[in-house]
Amino acid sequence: MILRLDDIKKYFPVRHGFLQRKMEYVKAVDGVSLAIKRGEIFGLVGESGSGKSTLGYTVVGIHRSTAGKIIFKGEDLATRQHMDVRAISRKLQIVFQDPGSSLNPKRTIRQTLELPLKVHRLGTRRERLGKLRELLQKVELPEEYLHNYPRALSGGQRQRIAIARALAVEPEFIVLDEPTSALDVSVQGKVVRLLLSLAKEHDLTYLFITHDLSLMRNVASRVAIMYLGKLCEVAPTSEFFKNPLHPYTKMLLSSIPVVSEEEESLKPERSVPKGEIPSPVNRPSGCGFRTRCPLAMDICAQEEPRRTLVNEEHEVHCHLFNNSRIKGDYDWND
Ligand code: SF4
Repeated sequence: MILRLDDIKKYFPVRHGFLQRKMEYVKAVDGVSLAIKRGEIFGLVGESGSGKSTLGYTVVGIHRSTAGKIIFKGEDLATRQHMDVRAISRKLQIVFQDPGSSLNPKRTIRQTLELPLKVHRLGTRRERLGKLRELLQKVELPEEYLHNYPRALSGGQRQRIAIARALAVEPEFIVLDEPTSALDVSVQGKVVRLLLSLAKEHDLTYLFITHDLSLMRNVASRVAIMYLGKLCEVAPTSEFFKNPLHPYTKMLLSSIPVVSEEEESLKPERSVPKGEIPSPVNRPSGCGFRTRCPLAMDICAQEEPRRTLVNEEHEVHCHLFNNSRIKGDYDWND
């Protein structure tokens, strides 16, 4: 394992009421445990407000976790104590959804790409320039772009610069936060292909965050579904699409648009959830999905479903499976 999340929580305080005296918490991520293998592309899927991006930001240290452990190559990042923070943060990078806002419009591409090298004190001025040229080659852009400002580039080219910036410090693990969803459809495929070839070439591990299940079918080795800050289901991609178990997963899969009759026949029966995703401040008791679930039972309002392993790699968090299968914790020694 390269990364292990152990009961990670990220709560944001919100004040309201008379004189803003009442304090409540948005439980954006609420007890997520995951293990990601070196070299894999792990897909994390959910609707807006599911907490998937907050989880990614917490992994790379943009947010500090409220509780739980983030173990990266054996070191606990959540406490970020007793370690060289700079060296660890070099190994964990992020590519944001919107390259337009993630690149500083006042900096040239050279300044943007050189900054992480300077922060991490890598190379002389001449060596850094050589490195920047190499980075542009890797993301298939001409080196003349070093002198341009982001506004002179298209959305796809800006995202390539954002990818080059993440690669500059030679990371091992990259969080990709919806890296193609702000791009034109015509360039999305090219950026995905670039990300896949870079992963192979540099032995990278990706946490690929998206709301696009069709994309995950083509790129991820395993897929996890999040809903209201918690995991619903985790499975290898082929099994995930062939044998979805959680009612929420089935609902998401049944709504994917397909082009062939064969694909249509593989989809679960169409199910439409009731209502809207609830606020993470007022999460329903028991199972967070129960207010929308067509199969909800009495116990779903009383108890939170536990993690159930249906086989070694397929887990589901739902009372429909709690009684008949093996419950257990991860084998973290794997
Ligand atoms: Fe539906 Fe209950 Fe399963 Fe939640 S635990 S998904 S409410 S059946």
